[in-house]
Amino acid sequence: MRPDFYRIAALLVFLVFLQGRVPAQPPQSYAASDIYAQLQKLQVLGSVLYVGAHPDDENTRLLAYLSKEKKFRTAYLSLTRGDGGQNLIGDEQGVPLGLIRTQELLAARQVDGGEQFFSTAYDFGFSKNPDETFRIWDKEKILGDVIFVIRHFKPDVIITRFPEDGRAGHGHHSASAILAREAFFAAADPNRYPEHFSMGLKPWQAKRLLWNTYSFGNNNTIRPDQYRMEVGAYNAVLGKSYGEIAAHSRSQHKSQGFGVASQRGEAYEYFAKIAGDTVFTELMDGIDITWQRVGEPEIGRNIEDLLKTFDVTAPEKIVPGLLSIRRRLSVSQKESPWIIQKQKEIDQLIAACMGLYFEATTQQPFAVTGDSLKINFTVINRSNFPLRQVRVQYADTLFTIDAPGSNVPQTIPITFKVKDDFMKDQPYWLREQMTEGSFTIFDRQLLTLPRNNPNQVTVHYYFGDNHPVLLQYPVQYKHTDPVKGELYEPVITVPPVIVSTSPQVILNNVTPRVPARLTVRYQSLSERGTVAGNIVFNNSGKVIATEPRLINLHKNRITEESFALDTLAAVKKNTEISAAIVLKGEGGKDENYSNYMRLIRYDHIPTVHYFFQAKAKVLTDDIRVVGKRIGYIRGAGDNVPDALQAMGYEVVMLDEHNLVLPVISGLDAIITGVRAYNVHDWLEGKYDVLMNYVRNGGNVIVQYNTSNFISSVTSKIGPYPFAISRNRVTDEKEPVKFLLPNHQVLNYPNKITEKDFDNWVQERGIYFAGQPDPKWEAPLAMADKGEDEQKGSLIIARYGKGVFVYTGLVFFRQLPAGVPGAYRILANLIALNKSPE
Ligand SMILES: [Zn+2]
Repeated sequence: MRPDFYRIAALLVFLVFLQGRVPAQPPQSYAASDIYAQLQKLQVLGSVLYVGAHPDDENTRLLAYLSKEKKFRTAYLSLTRGDGGQNLIGDEQGVPLGLIRTQELLAARQVDGGEQFFSTAYDFGFSKNPDETFRIWDKEKILGDVIFVIRHFKPDVIITRFPEDGRAGHGHHSASAILAREAFFAAADPNRYPEHFSMGLKPWQAKRLLWNTYSFGNNNTIRPDQYRMEVGAYNAVLGKSYGEIAAHSRSQHKSQGFGVASQRGEAYEYFAKIAGDTVFTELMDGIDITWQRVGEPEIGRNIEDLLKTFDVTAPEKIVPGLLSIRRRLSVSQKESPWIIQKQKEIDQLIAACMGLYFEATTQQPFAVTGDSLKINFTVINRSNFPLRQVRVQYADTLFTIDAPGSNVPQTIPITFKVKDDFMKDQPYWLREQMTEGSFTIFDRQLLTLPRNNPNQVTVHYYFGDNHPVLLQYPVQYKHTDPVKGELYEPVITVPPVIVSTSPQVILNNVTPRVPARLTVRYQSLSERGTVAGNIVFNNSGKVIATEPRLINLHKNRITEESFALDTLAAVKKNTEISAAIVLKGEGGKDENYSNYMRLIRYDHIPTVHYFFQAKAKVLTDDIRVVGKRIGYIRGAGDNVPDALQAMGYEVVMLDEHNLVLPVISGLDAIITGVRAYNVHDWLEGKYDVLMNYVRNGGNVIVQYNTSNFISSVTSKIGPYPFAISRNRVTDEKEPVKFLLPNHQVLNYPNKITEKDFDNWVQERGIYFAGQPDPKWEAPLAMADKGEDEQKGSLIIARYGKGVFVYTGLVFFRQLPAGVPGAYRILANLIALNKSPE
């Protein structure tokens, strides 16, 4: 059940570095209108936490309204990173998809002005009820995370997206509402999770817990007696209405295909009370959200004056006023988290008002451990307001720049030795082995961050006195692309060598025999020439083979070597093998490199990376294969072609141009990738070609396509009618019933038994066939607990001399995960147009 990210990741093709870079985090700039809006926000001392289960659950219109109109400190707690979602933009599944969706969520917050939190819960895929969800997540652990976030963020109001019951539509959704309610009370209880208190937290009682009700389709949870709020306003300072900001924010969820249109005009949000005090007129009823809250009403009046005198042509004029408020806060004896929060906001405002510019950039994307790295630190004061000194702190180095002149850039280059710790840049939730339902983190403090901030520079700006303004900046790789222009990306700390193995799954007992080979690839990220070393193979931490080699460590060079499996080890039972490059290091100590790095690049998010140890899963199960050449039509992205090759098939990739009878007539079968009919309009035009191929003895196997709001198949797929339903079986452990035990698909060339449905991952199948014409045969039945039996996971029809198959069984998950039964069933599907001997 645990979608193993090592395995998922090991499939990748080696990336060529230093090409096709994408934009990441260009330095922020602030127009006078942004500054004015931030100054207004300085007046408000109130906060709201919105709680949902996945990236994209959040109500971006409400978040934008609360953050930018009401000026509350607003955050979204997404329990998961959306690892189990669909991916409409690439082939990342599971953990790498969660990395993409984490960044998409941060991009959305950048737009709507919210902050972002996560728990350690893993999105293991669709769950029909919260009981199953809690069993897999470990409820007590995730509740502790939610309480931690509440005690850290200290929201006045908590809002859930979902109700606790079945109307939420997904077990994770109901679970998020249940956890929010329990945490609302438990966060205030000094006896619950007392270990938080040693981390500087205190019990926290939010004033109220509300549910943001909704009307989606025929699911209307809005009632006339609920508190309602008009959120469709137009913000003249920003030049946008909240419906427009919301659409822009929501459209960041590109991997989910959630691009949406802007809404304009009045719009209402409704709230049902779950716990705490009732709302009568305002969300913050009964909460003082002025400076009076921290006993500093004078500051409120000062800010009011600054707002009145704000000059859009010279925002720097309010800097003295901001500095004096800041000084007052620095010496304040009042104990309130708001003091620290407002200091941070003022620091950012002062820098924005002065057009202060700071960057720390490199000319290379990687900091290789053991090598040196040159960083250019540049500071410019683009105002006439004088700066006494700038103190820059990075790693163990501290340096100062005295009185930088107005609009005169000062650049200081410093070369550092990169420390031997590349794992500090590993996403923090991937540093330890995860469990089935959650990530493992040893330091809960990390939950205050949506992702780790590697490579930060701390800058102190000194004015007249000793209360510096303090800001942090990332070290970035800066370069210019002739097409895309100036680009900034994170600098990633890496080891000098990265190593991977392929394929992901090796079938060691295929008939007819396929030579089992393991390929090792390594890439040097540093220039070291050619050195003597070893390629070392491991199995469960034990060395099984050592191959002495001259190791090619020329920078960026990729070396690949293939080994016959039986020359490395005699594999008798299913196992995993990994490889390492071992070099003689300084002082005779071994340097051992066994990690590979996956880079994920999309234009709408910064480059994401993570390290993993590639492992080849060796299966010794008996798999019989009939046929030689398979045509494959790539769909939305899956790794089924690799599995076919491992089975010994030759795979011919088919597209709009070569899907023609002369090419396909010699193929033993044609398989369509997941959602192929959703993503390729041209397939509709190929209907007759495919039917001709089947009539003449061919075999077309269609993997699942969707029928939902993102995309539906409008064209005809098979020779006889059937519909694509939304039926699925999500529990991968539910038994499978053989309705037609004598059917060829269950007998040739592999005898299929219940055992072939053991150890499946995530789910049995999705988007099953519905209402099939009587000419279809349905050999399998299955059901989730308490639900009706489903017969649409696999339907087969004879047509002419050939066969047509539609299946919602999730081969695309099982094959890369190394589930032997999935290989055997797929081999039988491919053999359906052959007569058993
Ligand atoms: Zn959701």
